[in-house]
Amino acid sequence: MRLKTEFEFEAAHKLEGYNGKCANLHGHRWKVVIFVEGKDELIDENGILWDFNNAYEIKEELEHKYLNEILSVSPSAENIALWILKKLKDNNKNLLFKVRVYENAKSYAEVGDIEKQKA
Ligand SMILES: [Zn+2]
Repeated sequence: MRLKTEFEFEAAHKLEGYNGKCANLHGHRWKVVIFVEGKDELIDENGILWDFNNAYEIKEELEHKYLNEILSVSPSAENIALWILKKLKDNNKNLLFKVRVYENAKSYAEVGDIEKQKA
């Protein structure tokens, strides 16, 4: 069974020590796509493999925040993707996840356990 959901959030960051525009405080409208995969047997009595509401909770943690205060590492798209993936895996040890974080419409970082799933 495979699930996919996505959400967007607005948040500020700066990449400290980076030699370029992203060293200055600025915001993005980030887009996050979450892929979930698990065995059919893991679907619970409500018919749910992974609650889409989990994505909403992550969105709420990030919405209108200063990401440098949330992540312990430089809040690049790569590190935001890793941060979300860790959160997902910590809460759902039996499922596989893939996280894609778009910094803009054309550029994203992707990380996770699911290799073959298409867009
Ligand atoms: Zn940026």
